[in-house]
Amino acid sequence: MEQCIFCQIAQKKSPAEIEYEDADVIAFWDIAPKAPVHILVIPKKHIERLSTLQPGDEIILGKMVMAAQKVAEKKKLVDGGFRLIINQGRESGQIVPHLHLHLIGGRALGKMG
Ligand code: AMP
Repeated sequence: MEQCIFCQIAQKKSPAEIEYEDADVIAFWDIAPKAPVHILVIPKKHIERLSTLQPGDEIILGKMVMAAQKVAEKKKLVDGGFRLIINQGRESGQIVPHLHLHLIGGRALGKMG
């Protein structure tokens, strides 16, 4: 996945402000933050979107959520609260075709739904 910007970040071929990393996932600041804290958690393995997850990918999705929990604790968001978002496809506004979890917090986020 030579052309994928998030693969390049995961491989340290493109710069990013990294907040967390382990063998399977990496978390880094969004380049255009929508809140005081806006961090993206991605699998290092290239997965295009939620709908392309395969049997067995439950583990990587769990690892992404656990990484988000660690970053939320590190950024002291747990008491105030935070939001996790995964965009899927055109109508959601997904622009980067590499699965990512948005971790957003640090301000009142407004009610959804
Ligand atoms: P989405 O709309 O869910 O695909 O969100 C993609 C996010 O990736 C957007 O919030 C972008 O600001 C962010 N983004 C795009 N390129 C980069 C990059 N090179 N480094 C960090 N964040 C990026």
